[in-house]
Amino acid sequence: MTPDEIKALMNEPACAHNKKSKSGCAKPKPGATQGGCCFDGARNALLPICDVAHIVHGPIGCAGSSWDNRGTRSGGSDIYRIGMTTDLNDMDVITGRGEKRLFKAIGQAVADHAPAAVFVYNTCVPALQGDDIEAVAKAAAARFDVPVVPVDCAGFYGNKNLGNRIAGDAAYRHIIGTREPDPVPPEAEIPGIRRHDINLIGEWNVGGEFWNVAPLFDELGLRILCSFSGDSRFHEVQTMHRAEASMVVCSKAMLHVARKLEDDHGVPWFEGSFYGVADTSQAFRDFACLLGDDDLSARVAALVAREEAKVAAALAPLRARLAGKRVLIFTGGYKSWSVVSAMQDLGMVVVATGTEKSTEEDKARIRALMGPEARMISDNDQTALIQTYHACGADILIAGDRYIYPTLKSRIPFLDIDHVRRIGYAGYDGLVELARNIDHAVHSPVWAAVRDTPPWRRVARVATRPAA
Ligand code: SF4
Repeated sequence: MTPDEIKALMNEPACAHNKKSKSGCAKPKPGATQGGCCFDGARNALLPICDVAHIVHGPIGCAGSSWDNRGTRSGGSDIYRIGMTTDLNDMDVITGRGEKRLFKAIGQAVADHAPAAVFVYNTCVPALQGDDIEAVAKAAAARFDVPVVPVDCAGFYGNKNLGNRIAGDAAYRHIIGTREPDPVPPEAEIPGIRRHDINLIGEWNVGGEFWNVAPLFDELGLRILCSFSGDSRFHEVQTMHRAEASMVVCSKAMLHVARKLEDDHGVPWFEGSFYGVADTSQAFRDFACLLGDDDLSARVAALVAREEAKVAAALAPLRARLAGKRVLIFTGGYKSWSVVSAMQDLGMVVVATGTEKSTEEDKARIRALMGPEARMISDNDQTALIQTYHACGADILIAGDRYIYPTLKSRIPFLDIDHVRRIGYAGYDGLVELARNIDHAVHSPVWAAVRDTPPWRRVARVATRPAA
């Protein structure tokens, strides 16, 4: 990518960050890419497209450090989970045969796995060598008769967020708009119900959590043309331009995909979340409102009433055990407020929430939920976080997986909310699962055992007690 192309991606008019600075996102400072490089972000964003062969063009370390690093699940093909790489070595660099290796690797992937498409991810070494992955992709597509998408995302271009944007940009430039959606089969039509086609952008199906929500869309007559990119297929991504509305579920870094779909194809969009009862219900209402369908609005109201009653009954015994428990949340971005909302649904007290990657808009939502005095933590230092936990008198820490070991070593109940988890928490059923897991973590008998004086110390004290 040229510096101008990177600069353009960092300057997203639909993002609230831009309101703070005229030149868009700041460049990462040394050390600020902790949590993944640009390549890692791009691959994370596209890897869930499950019937695609994802080839990492670079040394084995790049592919090895990021393979399968999200708990995203597929309801079909498993090709996406096969780690493919050109495995460049010293001799490839010295002799400059990287492009040849890439061409061969694409041929091998097509011959062995017959994928719907091949994605090629550029990394630092071939980018420094000057490998022309666009030209190789073009030649390979013609030779092997399969779409080949170049994703130019060398790690040194920037951080993980930029990688997400590059992934969205590659999808927009090379995939979206290249196919028309299939007609709805007559047996899938619901009599008396007008169907609408929609997109979800930034929904990764972590731990299969979107499957908690998908049947409700079917029931409402909302056909998901593409969930970009959790549990999606290549041909679904191709048809996103034909949706009537999009929802940006998770990622600020994917806002540009929604904005471009609106600018170029007139697809309106909104931002929302499927964490917690209130947000899930609001997402369905927002779709009905955006689609301007009164009948759909009425059906959404009935569905929301039914599901909220069901979830209230399922949560009642758990709420009784969790109400009033104090929770410290340390996560970032949209989760900084969507998880707060889910905790409040359970009657828990959120003592503070992390805002490491949150925007001003995210912070405004936190204040709306927690009040103007809401305590927000932006420092990701682990020791400070544990001190804050004790200072706030919290009962559980909810954070990403990188905090799991220091937290457990400090004998603190912990729940993993990161993208690598294998359990889904989205939707109404997801909230019940979340409540169950928090209950297990907070009330586990292990805490009394590990916080108590160990038996060998008790014995030693009795033995050394002076005679009366
Ligand atoms: S920074 Fe470069 S070398 Fe390191 S993992 Fe990312 S792409 Fe590979």
